[in-house]
Amino acid sequence: MTALPFSSTPLSPALLDNLASLGYHSMTDIQAQTLPLILAGKDVIGQGKTGSGKTAAFALGLLHNLNVQRFRVQSLVVCPTRELADQVAVEIRKLARAIHNIKVLTLCGGAPMGPQIGSLEHGAHIVVGTPGRIEEHLRKGRLSLDEVNTFVLDEADRMLEMGFEQPLQYIVDHCPAVRQNLLFSATYPAKIEQLAQHVMHNPEKITVESTHDHATIEQYFYEVDDNAMRMQATQKLLLHFAPSAAVIFCNTKAQCQELCDSLRQCGFDCGALHGDLEQKDRDRTLVRFANQSMSVLVATDVAARGIDVDHVDMVINYHIAHDPEVHVHRIGRTGRAGNKGVACSLMSYKESHKVNALEDYLNTTVEPTDLPNDNVFGNPVKRAPMVTIQIDGGKKSKLRPGDILGALTAKDAVKGAQIGKIKVTAISAYVAVERKAANTALKVISEGKMKGRQFRARKLTK
Ligand code: ADP
Ligand code: MG
Repeated sequence: MTALPFSSTPLSPALLDNLASLGYHSMTDIQAQTLPLILAGKDVIGQGKTGSGKTAAFALGLLHNLNVQRFRVQSLVVCPTRELADQVAVEIRKLARAIHNIKVLTLCGGAPMGPQIGSLEHGAHIVVGTPGRIEEHLRKGRLSLDEVNTFVLDEADRMLEMGFEQPLQYIVDHCPAVRQNLLFSATYPAKIEQLAQHVMHNPEKITVESTHDHATIEQYFYEVDDNAMRMQATQKLLLHFAPSAAVIFCNTKAQCQELCDSLRQCGFDCGALHGDLEQKDRDRTLVRFANQSMSVLVATDVAARGIDVDHVDMVINYHIAHDPEVHVHRIGRTGRAGNKGVACSLMSYKESHKVNALEDYLNTTVEPTDLPNDNVFGNPVKRAPMVTIQIDGGKKSKLRPGDILGALTAKDAVKGAQIGKIKVTAISAYVAVERKAANTALKVISEGKMKGRQFRARKLTK
C-alpha cells in the first residue's frame, strides 16, 4: 500500500466517493504507478503479483473512459477463465456503483448460450469474457466492438499458456484501430512481449516488486527419487504440517487427478481443479475449498487462478515449476493477509536445472531438508472442519441465504455458530455446516420447507 490517495488522480468525484465507501483509501503500489498513466490515455502493461490490485487499476481506467448515455460496448476485458471473468465483473460492478444504469455483461465458455444471446440483444457498456466465447459471438454477428475505446487483457500470461492467440487475434481485429490497450499479468514471459508489440501502441511497462515478503512464507525443499516417492512425500508433509487449507500444484492435469485420487484414499478431504473437469465440478470444488469443507486442493497453475482464498496455510509444489516466476506466484498463494504460510517443494535430480534457475532468480541457495520420518504415518489425518450441503434450489427459486439460515436454526436444530459460508447461485445453494452437525442439517433441510416448498439436498463428499 502506498500513501497516495485516489483523490490525487483525475477520477470523477462520484467514483472517488464510491472508492471511499468501499474502504479503498490509498492506492496499492501497482495502482499508484499505472493509474495516472491509464487515466492519461496511455497503453499500459502492468505486472504485479496476485492480490496487488490490478483489477481496480484497469477497471477505474475503463470506467473513466465510459459514456453511460451511449448504450454501446465501450470496454472489453478478456480473461483466461470463467472464474476470473466472474471475479473481474464483480469488482467492476462494485467500482461502478456510483454510475447509474451501467450494464456489465459476462460472456464465458462453459455457460449456456441462450441467456448470453438474450443479454447481447439488450446491450451492454462493458463486456468481460473468455476469448473463445467472445470470438464465437463475434463470428455469429451478435456482438459489435465498433465502439470499444478500452481493450483489456487480464492475466495475459495464462491466456498465452492456454493457447488463446488465435481467438485473441480475431477479437483484436474486430476492435477499432484507435483504442486504449491495457495488459495485466502476474508474470512476464517472452511471449507476452510479442503479444504486446502486436496489440499495443508504445506501451509503458510497469513492474511492481515481483517477489513476496519471505518473512511470512517459510520455504522448504525436499529431494525425491521418483513419482511413487513424491506421492508418499506429499502425504507425509500433509500429516506433518497438518494444514487447514493446502494447495498442491501439479504440472499436468493427469498428475493432478492421480494425486487427488490417492490422497482421497488416504482419507484427506481433497479435490482436484484442472481443465479436464466440467465447469460445474470446478465451481463446486472452489465453493468447498473456500468454505473449509475441503482442506486439500490439487490444481494446475491455470485452474488455480480461480482460487480466491486468504486462509491457505500451505503450498506444495509436487514438481518444481517450469519458470521461477511461476514458483514465486504459486507460493504467494499462502502467507496472505498477514497470515503465516509454509511452502514445500519436491525436487528430483532431473529438475536440477529448474532449481538452479530458481536459485539465480531468488538469489539464494536451495538447501534440501529431510522429509519427516515414517512415524508421521501414525498422525491422524486432519479433516476439514465443515461439510457442504448442496440444495437443489437457488436464486431462480427465490432462495436466499437468510432462508437457509432460518430453516437450519429454527427449533434450534443447528446452532448459528455451527453454520459457515452460504453461497447461492442461480439454481443451487451451498451451505457449510460443522461436520458433527451435518447429518442433522441435511435432515432439517430435506424434510422441512423453505419458501413454502421442499428442496432436495445432499452432502457433498466427493
Ligand atoms: P490482482 O488482480 O492483482 O491479483 P485484485 O485486483 O484481485 O488483485 O485485488 C486483490 C484484492 O484487493 C481485492 O479483494 C480488491 O478488492 C482489493 N483492493 C484492490 N485495490 C485496493 C485498494 N486500493 N484498497 C483496498 N483494497 C483494494
Ligand atoms: Mg487479477
